[in-house]
Amino acid sequence: MSKKVNRLSRLGIMGGTFDPVHFGHLVAAEGARDVLGLEQVIFIPAGRPPHKPDCEITDPWDRYMMTSLAVASNEFFQVSSLEIDRSGPSYTIDTVQAIKGLYPGAQIYFITGADAVLEILTWKNVERLLSLCCFVAATRPGYQLDELWEKLGVLIQFPKQDILSMEVPALQISSTDIRRRVREGRTIKYLLPEPVEEYIVKHKLYR
Ligand code: NAP
Repeated sequence: MSKKVNRLSRLGIMGGTFDPVHFGHLVAAEGARDVLGLEQVIFIPAGRPPHKPDCEITDPWDRYMMTSLAVASNEFFQVSSLEIDRSGPSYTIDTVQAIKGLYPGAQIYFITGADAVLEILTWKNVERLLSLCCFVAATRPGYQLDELWEKLGVLIQFPKQDILSMEVPALQISSTDIRRRVREGRTIKYLLPEPVEEYIVKHKLYR
């Protein structure tokens, strides 16, 4: 990462498995960048998601390549292989600490799906994590936000400004649905960027 980037003061981390990355993720990241005035958003594909030890997940480098193709046209986006390069489960606390080291003084916003945020109490060192960054929970339309606050509020004491929510209509698109469509030989056009679709076809993913 360049020295210029290291002087950033407001930085987004887009955390996800990205299996595959789609327009919902891109719209969520761009929306957060716009609303929160982020100077860069770093997409970090999870290397080995700690909560999915037995799930079949596409090779991390395929997910990294697809994410790189997806963000190539946005000068404010970049992709990091930080979690893929690290051995062992991809704990977000380790990722945020590493990014803090690379961007000292930057205010960090960790953007991910609301369903993932609902699980943060099961994450490693959650209190330390909340002291290092704000969370942005991207929700699909119709998501019961009150439920999110209620569940989180019951389980943990946190300042409300540490967990923000953002409704993203494009998150009607889902990676699960895209994988199913490919398996069933159905179209995935207009759900993700063309280069990503081409990569899926070329590498025979999700068959
Ligand atoms: P997930 O359980 O696969 O996803 C939950 C929901 O959130 C899905 O509907 C998913 O939709 C959506 N989603 C995931 N990432 C998103 C994003 N960046 N923007 C908008 N929606 C998103 O969650 P995951 O992808 O495996 O994990 C999310 C993040 O949490 C990752 O960075 C992971 O490393 C981190 N995490 C950390 C710990 C820990 O530190 N212990 C534990 C669990 C998760 P799609 O399927 O369409 O993406």
